[in-house]
Amino acid sequence: MRKLRIGYLSLLVFLAFRTFPVFSIDLAVSLYHEHLFHSILFTTVEGYYRVSGDGQELGICQPGASWYMIRRKDSLYIRDHHGEWFRMKEVLIAAGEESSVFSLKPANPVLDTREYLGELRIGVSMNSLQVLNIIDLEKYVMGVAETEAGPGCSLEYYKVQSILCRTFALKNLERHLEEGFHLCDGVHCQAYKGRNIWNDDVETGAEVTGELVICDADSVLINTAYHSNSGGETRGAGKVWLKEESYLRPVLDPFSLGQRNASWEKSMFVRDWIYYLLSYGIHFPEDADTSGLEMRLKHRQEFYRVFGDSLAFFRIREDFTLRSDFFDVLVEGDRIRMKGRGYGHGVGLSQEGAMEMARRRYHYTAILNFYYHGILIIPYFDIKPLFSH
Ligand SMILES: [Zn+2]
Repeated sequence: MRKLRIGYLSLLVFLAFRTFPVFSIDLAVSLYHEHLFHSILFTTVEGYYRVSGDGQELGICQPGASWYMIRRKDSLYIRDHHGEWFRMKEVLIAAGEESSVFSLKPANPVLDTREYLGELRIGVSMNSLQVLNIIDLEKYVMGVAETEAGPGCSLEYYKVQSILCRTFALKNLERHLEEGFHLCDGVHCQAYKGRNIWNDDVETGAEVTGELVICDADSVLINTAYHSNSGGETRGAGKVWLKEESYLRPVLDPFSLGQRNASWEKSMFVRDWIYYLLSYGIHFPEDADTSGLEMRLKHRQEFYRVFGDSLAFFRIREDFTLRSDFFDVLVEGDRIRMKGRGYGHGVGLSQEGAMEMARRRYHYTAILNFYYHGILIIPYFDIKPLFSH
């Protein structure tokens, strides 16, 4: 059954690439994926829904009505709005109208309530309910763009974020193939919390850029790496992931400077810093001055160099959970002060830099071309089929 389902979903996407004009692409997204939960409440918010289980019609769910689903070992029990129980293996909840909206609330344990468009497929996995939202790609992009960018951005930035989200989704369709869906709703894939609700510009941004994705010079979808703030300078992919990409090259980025996450600081005692370096075999010579611990960066560097030895900045970042691995080490009396720049890995697009470019009225294509080198921004039906099978 699972293989059939995957085959069916993949086929939908495959046909979309082979057919012109392009039909909608449906994605299967696992909801509340980072949690284990055993029961969930479904409520119709707008429109109506047809509920069926194991191929059998169970009823219609009208606005305000709720159905409750609970897992008991391998079985799924569903209670309709009259209180009648059914035992099923899988439940499908299909939208009666395109504008139908439903809400979900996991009840055991209690998690936040979210609203969704599209349809719902509920089954039982090893130790949890598995709840899949079957959602049109563009509607999914709107939900992700709002979650990833936040509610207060300009329209031009939402265009940028929509293209990033669409490109990521299509490049990673097989990420969860073995589990029976395309993408999860957690940060492992892209954060997705249902339909966008805060800002109409999110919807406009997705619609205006509908079907556009980013490819490299060979018309292959790119890895749309992005981070919060570059600190004034992005870096190449190879420095972080050991594999260079032609489109992920270092860029001097004045747009990130002065933004909320452009700088950070951390302080500690010099003796603690020396103990830390000792744990990596770096010795502090007895006659050495503490000023030898200092390192000031003009540009990003891979290694903190001290007393003829070195330690990777990314290692220090991990050990102290720092916002970035782009920082000066300064000595002030008996304290070490790390004076940091940026937030995140620094590869690809800086979100805060791109938001600033949008505020300065740069076009979304200019913003993407600033952060990604030698790219093509084209409709996805103009590129090679994503599926090789
Ligand atoms: Zn995932």
